[in-house]
Amino acid sequence: MKHLVQKIMGILLAGALLGLALLPGPGGFFAFSPAFFTAPLSFSFPVAGAWFLAAYLTGLAVGRALGHFSQVWVVPETLALAALYWAPAFLRRRQADVQEGFQAQQATDQERYDAFREVADRLKKENLQNEKQLRQIEHLYDVIKEAGSTLNVQEMIELTRDFTERMFDLPHFVIAVLSNDAKKYEIRIASGCDESLFRSFDIDLEDNGLAAFLSREKKPIWVPSVGEKEPFSKLGNLAVKSFVFLPFLVQDRVIGFLCSYSSQKDFIDQEKFSQFQVFCNQISIGLQKSLLYEKVQKLSITDGLTKLFSHRHFKQRLEEELILANRYSSQLSLLILDIDHFKRYNDSYGHVAGDHVLMDVARILKEQSDMTHIAARYGGEEMVLVAPETTKEQAMELAEKIRKAVESYSFAVGKETTQVTVSIGVATYPQDSQTTLDLIAKADKALYAAKARGRNRIVAYPI
Ligand code: GH3
Ligand code: MG
Ligand code: MG
Repeated sequence: MKHLVQKIMGILLAGALLGLALLPGPGGFFAFSPAFFTAPLSFSFPVAGAWFLAAYLTGLAVGRALGHFSQVWVVPETLALAALYWAPAFLRRRQADVQEGFQAQQATDQERYDAFREVADRLKKENLQNEKQLRQIEHLYDVIKEAGSTLNVQEMIELTRDFTERMFDLPHFVIAVLSNDAKKYEIRIASGCDESLFRSFDIDLEDNGLAAFLSREKKPIWVPSVGEKEPFSKLGNLAVKSFVFLPFLVQDRVIGFLCSYSSQKDFIDQEKFSQFQVFCNQISIGLQKSLLYEKVQKLSITDGLTKLFSHRHFKQRLEEELILANRYSSQLSLLILDIDHFKRYNDSYGHVAGDHVLMDVARILKEQSDMTHIAARYGGEEMVLVAPETTKEQAMELAEKIRKAVESYSFAVGKETTQVTVSIGVATYPQDSQTTLDLIAKADKALYAAKARGRNRIVAYPI
C-alpha cells in the first residue's frame, strides 16, 4: 500500500513536470525542474523517486521522439537525473552499512561487557564467599585460641555454644559431655530444645538410647531427612525431620557430643556439616583437657572413700559461708556426726565392712541434705554438714532426720544385716561462736556431750 502510494506520487509528479515542460515560454525552466525533486525524492521516498524517474525519462524519450524536446541537453539531463537518483541511494546504503557495522560492533561490545560482568559478578561472589570463610576461620582461630587458654569445662562449652550460634545458625542444639565417672553423658547446653526430646535422649552409656547408640558409632552423623527406619524413626514422632550428631572424639573416645535438629528437612547442607566437623575436631582436644582438669579438681576436694568433700575443702567452704552469713546477717549451723562404737564394729565385722558403713552413712547424709548444704568427711568416722541460713532449731530437726535415717538403715555385711547409730553435735553462728575454728570446737563439744549422754542422740551447744 505504501509502495502503491509512492508509485502514484512519483508518476503524478513526473506527469505534472512533463506537462509544465511542454508549456511554451517557461517550458525550458520546467524541463530542468526534475533536478530539484529527484534527489530529495529518492532520499526520502525511494519508490516514488524510481517511478518518477522512470515516468519522466519515458515521457522525455517519447517527447523527443514526437519532437517536443529537440534540445541537445536531453541526454545530459537524463544522465544527471539518473545520477541524482542513485547518489542518495548510494549514500543511504553506505549509511546503512555504517549503521550495521556500528550495531555489530555494539553487539560485540555488549557481549564482551556481559562476559566481563559475569566474570566480575562471579569474582564478587567468590570474594564474598572467601571473606565469609576468612571471617569463619578467624573466628574459629579465636575460639581455638580461647579454648586453649581455659581449663574450665563450662567456659569451653559456652565457647562452643557461641561459635555454633554465630556460625551455623541452628534452631535447636544440645551439647553433652562425659560425666566424671564416664558412665553417662551430661547435657550441659540445651539451646531451643523441648523437654520431650530430652526424655528420648537416654544417655546412659550402657542402655539402648539413641544418644548412647550414636556415641558408640564414634562418627559424625548427618541425616538430612529422618525416615521410617530405625534407629531414627523415634525422632520422626517428635517432629524431628533432620538432624546432625557430632561427637567430640579424642583417641577414639567420645568425650561428648553436639547434636542439632530441625523440624524442617535439609536444615544443614554438606558444606556446613563439613565445617562443623572441623570445628568439633578442634574443640575436642581443649574439651578433653578441661574435663581432665575438672576431674582432678573434683578429686582434689573429694574424699576417696565417702565421695564427700575433703576436710580441707570443708574448712575453706565453712570460712566462705561464715563471711556470707556475716554480710547478710543470717544464721549458719554446723553438724558434726560420729559413728557410735565404730571401733567395735570394725573389730566385729572387719575394716572392709566398716568402710561400707562409712560409704552408706555418707550417702544417707547426702540424701538428707539439700543443694545448699556442704557435706564433708572430717576425718576417721566423723562427718560434718555445713547448713547455711539454718537456725539451731532447723539444724536440730535436720540432725534428728539424719540420726533416724541411720538408725533405721540395715547395713549389709555379706548376707547378714547390721545396725549402726550416730551421735551428732550442733553449733550455730553467730550465737555460739563467731569464728570457724571455734564453731567447730563448739559443735565437737556438743558431740562429746551426746556420747557422754549415751550415744545415738543429738546435742546442741551450749551443753
Ligand atoms: P565412739 O562411739 O566413742 O565414737 O566410739 P568409737 O569406737 O567410734 O571411737 P574411736 O574414735 O575410739 O574409734 C574410731 C574408729 O574408727 C577407729 C578406727 O578403727 C575407725 N576408723 C577410722 N577411719 C576408718 C576408716 O576409714 N575405715 C574404717 N573401717 N574404720 C575407720
Ligand atoms: Mg566413733
Ligand atoms: Mg571418732
